[in-house]
Amino acid sequence: MVDKVKHVLGLSGGKDSSALAIYMSQAHPELDIEYFFTDTGEELDEVYEYLAMLEGFLGKKIRYLDPGRDFKFYLAQYNQFLPSAQTRWCTKDLKIKPFEKWVKSEFTEQGYTVYSYVAIRADEDFRQGLNSKNGNLITKLPFKDDGIDKAGVFEILENSGLGLPSYYDWRSRSGCTFCFFQQKIEWVGLKERYPEAFERAKQMEKTSLDHGSPFSWSEGETLLELEKPERIAQIRADHEKRVERAKAKRKVDPLRPEQGAVDLDEIYGQQKVCLACHK
Ligand code: SF4
Repeated sequence: MVDKVKHVLGLSGGKDSSALAIYMSQAHPELDIEYFFTDTGEELDEVYEYLAMLEGFLGKKIRYLDPGRDFKFYLAQYNQFLPSAQTRWCTKDLKIKPFEKWVKSEFTEQGYTVYSYVAIRADEDFRQGLNSKNGNLITKLPFKDDGIDKAGVFEILENSGLGLPSYYDWRSRSGCTFCFFQQKIEWVGLKERYPEAFERAKQMEKTSLDHGSPFSWSEGETLLELEKPERIAQIRADHEKRVERAKAKRKVDPLRPEQGAVDLDEIYGQQKVCLACHK
């Protein structure tokens, strides 16, 4: 009897899941992996561009899962309250549910066991990926199992010729343009590079506050306050100081003397991330 097994790997447009796709395609060419991306419709242009490059590298189409409803629909369902680190309804409704629905209807209900490969690195504290109630959906963590850390991820991307996604110059993560996990300097970058997305986020925030929500997108201030020229100057100056401190703290690894620019995790500490959106 032929084993009914499927292999799936979720891409976020971020560096870790992209590196994992490359790694699996090279280390395990025998596995017929289905690559997927759950599209919130609120991503940066660079994410779509990078995914297109990745498709070329993998020689496979990436399946785009459609949550069916957009962010604004769910925002209305939650009485216009913005999502936040405490109430992260966006990931549940826009990323996890569409994935579980797809896996269930196309695979596990047809008797398949599904292995889902998740890009948790060896140097990260997470011990598991999605904790699904679906017993036939099994999470695998190849980077953890094979000891691949952040430097290893950079190496995989570099050696593939793809390099890092281009947004990495100014932003640490994939995900929605207005993601509340971003740092203040990233909001400044968004305003500069995607002024329309920034305005849209500002409008959503205003509606949310008018509805009594306690959350602004960025902690302790509204985008209206954050975008004032004097505040932007302060955020930039603070960021520069942090960059200098992070550079000074860097330990030189004799095996990897070329370490490249400091990234936001080094500057602000390993941030809380959403495995579905940011890996
Ligand atoms: S990227 Fe951020 S805002 Fe978008 S779904 Fe994920 S956690 Fe929510």
